Amino acid sequence: MADIFTDNYKETPYWWDLAPHETSDEQVPPAKTDVVIVGSGNVGMSAALSLSRLGRKTVVLDAQEIGYGASTRNAGYLGRGLGMKYGALTSAVGRQEAAKLATVAVAAHDYTAALIRAEQITCAYRDTGRFLAAPSKKAYDKLAQDLDMMLEDGVPIDAEMIPRERQHEEIASDIYHGGQLLRGNGIMHPGLMHRGLVDRARSQGADVIGFCPATAVDSQGSGFVVTTPRGKIETRDVFIATNGYTPKAFPWQRRRVIPASAFMMATETLSPELMAKVQPGGRPLLEACNTPLWIRPNEDGTRVLFGGRTGEDLGSLDRKAEQLYGEMVRVLPDLEGVKLTHSWSGKVAMTFDWLPHTGTHEGIHYAMGWCATGIPMGTYLGHQTALRIVGDPASVTALDNRPFPTRPFYYGNPWFLRWAIWWLQYQDRTMMKK
Ligand SMILES: Cc1cc2nc3c(=O)[nH]c(=O)nc-3n(C[C@H](O)[C@H](O)[C@H](O)COP(=O)(O)OP(=O)(O)OC[C@H]3O[C@@H](n4cnc5c(N)ncnc54)[C@H](O)[C@@H]3O)c2cc1C
Repeated sequence: MADIFTDNYKETPYWWDLAPHETSDEQVPPAKTDVVIVGSGNVGMSAALSLSRLGRKTVVLDAQEIGYGASTRNAGYLGRGLGMKYGALTSAVGRQEAAKLATVAVAAHDYTAALIRAEQITCAYRDTGRFLAAPSKKAYDKLAQDLDMMLEDGVPIDAEMIPRERQHEEIASDIYHGGQLLRGNGIMHPGLMHRGLVDRARSQGADVIGFCPATAVDSQGSGFVVTTPRGKIETRDVFIATNGYTPKAFPWQRRRVIPASAFMMATETLSPELMAKVQPGGRPLLEACNTPLWIRPNEDGTRVLFGGRTGEDLGSLDRKAEQLYGEMVRVLPDLEGVKLTHSWSGKVAMTFDWLPHTGTHEGIHYAMGWCATGIPMGTYLGHQTALRIVGDPASVTALDNRPFPTRPFYYGNPWFLRWAIWWLQYQDRTMMKK
């Protein structure tokens, strides 16, 4: 393959250029607090902001630098849906329950968009809508069928089917069979969004401490003791918000989430003409299939960001970038010859029932398993967890304390992922032929 990398190509997230991480932290955590949050992603930070506002002394710990996890590595899609397609959800839980769960996802979007505005978080957030691209005629029909069913069930969703003849309004590609334009979806710069949450939480008094892992949580009296390499913290409540990075110290949660790497890359700066041709509406694209690709313009519309191949072996990042590059020019032939400046990966967490989970186990709060919808769902359910901690009945959503399944002999190392992904890709390939 011709050289696809610029001279300054990096294997760190594109977002970190504008929102670099704090690279050291020696702060000693306080000996006593009201709440310890483990994990400084959007979920932990959203909860910390709300708890601090509600007058709770809050400490957020991260094992690595603050924001090390997926919250600063993602694609920045602020959606209003669950990871599972509506048709599959209705088969799994029935239509009434499916409508309730889908409505939580809409509330999650609305809460997060309102939070960005209310907190004046400068993260290039734009309400663009999203194009769900159908890789086959069958996928197109399924999208239309799911939309009808959601509207019938009263799910507050605003969408329109875009037939194949019109898809060039969305994407300079002939490989799709049309798709669905989902309104009320946005995109933003995830690094700046996360930094905004950290700044707001700190300004409300939260301690946010990096390079300080929680290595154990033990109950003591009516509360807990959290052990870290920099001392123990006595606390009334603990909230585990570690998602795809859940460590062995939390075996109950770790057995219930399936970490999977997701990959992204950024092109060099492209001409305004090429950008306008590739995604004329500036709307992010997500393929409507099991193992989707996603494509969006960056925050100022000067580059294409491209992602996919979730759950595949990591291998080396430059090898993965070469594979994704092949996918990119298959979808967007106009990008043949452009070079890449960044490629990176991060860990999402899937679950055995494809639903996010939040609740309390042995007195410890958790919210995780976002199935790649953690920006809206996690930010919202982080806030809802804060409400639960302070005993506010408004904390309850249809996702609370649902049975959180695991499997025998699964302890957090997803040895089966390779075959599961192969099976999902196989289903996608056979669907594409129809
Ligand atoms: C490439 C990619 C693209 C994505 N695109 C999107 C998208 O467009 N839209 C969307 O909604 N979602 C997307 N996601 C998923 C989304 O980013 C995640 O669901 C979300 O960020 C999870 O947030 P979180 O706070 O739960 O976890 P994370 O942000 O992953 O944070 C977990 C943190 O826990 C810390 N931790 C682990 N162990 C310990 C310990 N013992 N002590 C202290 N801290 C610990 C980790 O260091 C980590 O920083 C994407 C993910 C990736 C990787």
